[in-house]
Amino acid sequence: MTQKLYYIDSHLFTFTATVLRCEQNRDRWEIVLDETAFFPEGGGQPADRGTLGGVRVLDAHERGSEVVHCCDGPLEAGCSVEGRVDRELRLCRMQNHSGEHILSGTAHRFYGCENVGFHMGEREMTIDFDRELDEKELREIETAANEAVRSNLPVRITYPSAEELAVLEYRSKKELQGDVRIVEIPGVDRCACCAPHVDSTGEIGVIKILNSERHRGGVRLSVACGMWALEDYRRKQQSATEISALLSAKRDEVAPAVQRLLRERDALKEKNAALSMEMIQFKASIQPETDGNICLFENIPDEIAVRELVNLLMEKSGGLAAVFFPAPETGYRYIIGSRRIDLRKAARDINAGIGGRGGGKPEMIQGSAAASEEEIRRFILGFSA
Ligand SMILES: [Zn+2]
Repeated sequence: MTQKLYYIDSHLFTFTATVLRCEQNRDRWEIVLDETAFFPEGGGQPADRGTLGGVRVLDAHERGSEVVHCCDGPLEAGCSVEGRVDRELRLCRMQNHSGEHILSGTAHRFYGCENVGFHMGEREMTIDFDRELDEKELREIETAANEAVRSNLPVRITYPSAEELAVLEYRSKKELQGDVRIVEIPGVDRCACCAPHVDSTGEIGVIKILNSERHRGGVRLSVACGMWALEDYRRKQQSATEISALLSAKRDEVAPAVQRLLRERDALKEKNAALSMEMIQFKASIQPETDGNICLFENIPDEIAVRELVNLLMEKSGGLAAVFFPAPETGYRYIIGSRRIDLRKAARDINAGIGGRGGGKPEMIQGSAAASEEEIRRFILGFSA
C-alpha cells in the first residue's frame, strides 16, 4: 500500500520515500514507493509529472491500493529517494480543477445543469453541461464563480460515513464504492472527487469562460483558471496590441476598425470587378474577327473574368477562343471556348498538344498547361478539329 501524501497535503511537492519495487515494462520502469506526493490520474485530472531520484516520472496511476510511477529509468528497491512533483503544472491543474467545481456547482445551483463531461487540457479545460446556456446565463455563472473566488472560501475535504452519505446532497452521486471523498466549497458546491484541490478559493485567482458551443443538446465550455487564464489574457492582449498597431486603432476599438476595413475592401472589390470587365471588353473589341483560332496570354488572376473574356472572344472566332493565364506550379491555366468545335471531344488532342490536363462541356473546357507559351501558341493557332 502507498501512503498518499497528496491527500494529506495538496501543496507538498518534495518528499522522501523508500522504493518498495521497481519492475521493467518495455521501455518504462514501474516504481512503487511506500509513500508519494505524485497524484495518479483521476477525477478528470491527469497524473503528475516530475522526478524520483535521478529518473523522470512520465505518468502515474493507481493499481489497487498502490500508486505506480512510470519512469524513464530504474531505481533500486530498498533505497531512499527524493521525489519532486512538477509544482507549476500541479498548481495550475488544481487552480483549474477547483475552478471547474465552482463553475459546475454554480451552474447546477442556478440552472440545474449537470456536468456530463470534463477534460483537462494543457492550457485550458472543457466542461460539458446537459443544458444550453445563453450568453447572459453564462455571464451570471462566471460572475458568481468569481465572487466565490473573491470570498476566499475554504475547500473542505471530508469522508462521510455511509449513513451520512445517504442523506447528503452532492454532485457525482454515482458508481462510488468504498470511502467517498467529498470536496466541499461552502455555499457553492459539494462534489465527490478524488483529485487534489487548492486549500481556499482565493488561490484560483480567476475563472474565465473562453468559449461556449452547443454540444449534444447542452453546452461545451472552454475555461481557463488561474495562471492558464493569465496566459490566455497575455496571448489575447498580444494579438489585440498587434492588431491595434496595424489598424492604428485603440486596443478596445479594433472591431469597428476591422469592420471599416472590410467595407473598404468590399468597395475595392466591386471597383476592381468593374475595371476588369471594362478591360476585358476592350481586349475583346480590339481582337479582329477570324475564321480560325484565337490564342491570348493574359495576366488576369480572376477566373470569372477570364471566362467572360472567352465568352466575348467566341463571338469573334470560327474555331477556338483560348485564353491562357499564369498559374503557380503548373505553368498556365486555360479556358477555351468554341461555337463550332465540340471541345469535349477535342479536349484530349488539345491537352496532348499543350502538355495539359482538363476538360468540361462541349462549348467550354478548362484546365492547366505545362508547355511553353511559344509551344502553346503554335499548337492552338494551328489546331483544327
Ligand atoms: Zn473533481
